[in-house]
Amino acid sequence: MSLEELKKRRGVFDWYFKTSLLIRILIGLILGAVIGLIVGPGISWVKPFGDLFIRLLKMIVMPVVFFTLVVGSASISPARLGRVGIKIIVYYLLTSALAVAIGLIAGNIFHPGLGLALGGGKAAGRVLKQPGIIDTLLNIVPKNPFGALAKGAVLPTIFFAIFFGIGLSFLMISKDKRIKEAAESVFKFFDGAAEVMYKIVGWVLQYAPIGVFALIAVVFGKQGAKAFGPLGMVTLTVYIGLAVQLFIVYGGLLSLYRMGFLKFLGGAKDAMLTAFVTRSSSGTLPVTMRNAEENLGISRSIFSFTLPLGATINMDGTAIYQGVCALFVAFAVGMNLTFAQQLTVILTAVLASIGTAGVPGAGAIMLLLVLNSVGLPVEPGTPVATAYAMILGIDAILDMGRTSLNVTGDLTGTSIVAKTEKELDLTKWGKE
Ligand code: ASP
Repeated sequence: MSLEELKKRRGVFDWYFKTSLLIRILIGLILGAVIGLIVGPGISWVKPFGDLFIRLLKMIVMPVVFFTLVVGSASISPARLGRVGIKIIVYYLLTSALAVAIGLIAGNIFHPGLGLALGGGKAAGRVLKQPGIIDTLLNIVPKNPFGALAKGAVLPTIFFAIFFGIGLSFLMISKDKRIKEAAESVFKFFDGAAEVMYKIVGWVLQYAPIGVFALIAVVFGKQGAKAFGPLGMVTLTVYIGLAVQLFIVYGGLLSLYRMGFLKFLGGAKDAMLTAFVTRSSSGTLPVTMRNAEENLGISRSIFSFTLPLGATINMDGTAIYQGVCALFVAFAVGMNLTFAQQLTVILTAVLASIGTAGVPGAGAIMLLLVLNSVGLPVEPGTPVATAYAMILGIDAILDMGRTSLNVTGDLTGTSIVAKTEKELDLTKWGKE
């Protein structure tokens, strides 16, 4: 190959690596949607390229969470960790309840599903197995921390990593020189390992535009057109609810704490987009953490704890979706939910969104629980099952938006808690 040719080749790659990541991802997104819609289901051959992106992200989730959280909890006093924990949990619960309420209000205004008058159609219901509350709490304590890591169970891993980190922080101030030095080496090891993981996140993101293209093309190829059809009203209502939560609730909360909303969006955009296309808050976690640190200037001692927790229990987008869809199903089968029933929806949807795993489609399974609580069980062959099946048909489209908001909510809460703890680098927010 001549020198000229070599130069030309590098030109193409130069363009790829020099264009901003966001622009490249957006191009992937738009191209994916357009080509998916045009080609239809036939585009599914690109699926492996999307799967590759998800696998790469998943590959780093558990190491990122574990290494970062050990470093984070070793750098913060146990009392402070408790305070941060209470603040973030209160934030997560309140914003989730607000989210369901917004979903319900949007549903009451736009009436998705009204007039569908479903007959006794056929659709299969799913059986939901739900562990009791005591078991759920007990399961947070891992019987085998390495098993939890290997299985990718986030809450038990958080639990163990916090213990490990706190133990480490005590040993680092030990009077025994040998122990002190050993603990410092362990800390350095974890610190270095966390840095390595962030480096890898950066590389994985370089592949994101291609992965995004493939993921979106497959979704739009399979179900894109449906979202514009009779289910358009559900899609629209869910997305309006998501927008209200984003601009009014998060925007309002951030400005209450004197933090610029636009700066926030600018810093959180990679995570928001990654969540949108991967439809998984836990898969997005490495990107969310990287954005928190590099763009939003949040200290590791805060986000290493609040973000993995949020990716597991805080799902405002899912909560909104559940509010809207509960109303959709009710309207579709010709039932009106009373005020008391709507309050029940708020309570169960908050619990359901906490119990929802941060993986694609999990919210749709938890919706069964919400529907059950207001006397709309999904039994095979019933109109309720038909209505449910209709929403399942466009679940991927709804999942993209709700997952993106789920992650944005975690970042908003984390930014606010970091600010109140004075663990925020204000220069990243354009302030001195
Ligand atoms: N996919 C969502 C998430 O990972 C959960 C859901 O299905 O609502 O955040």
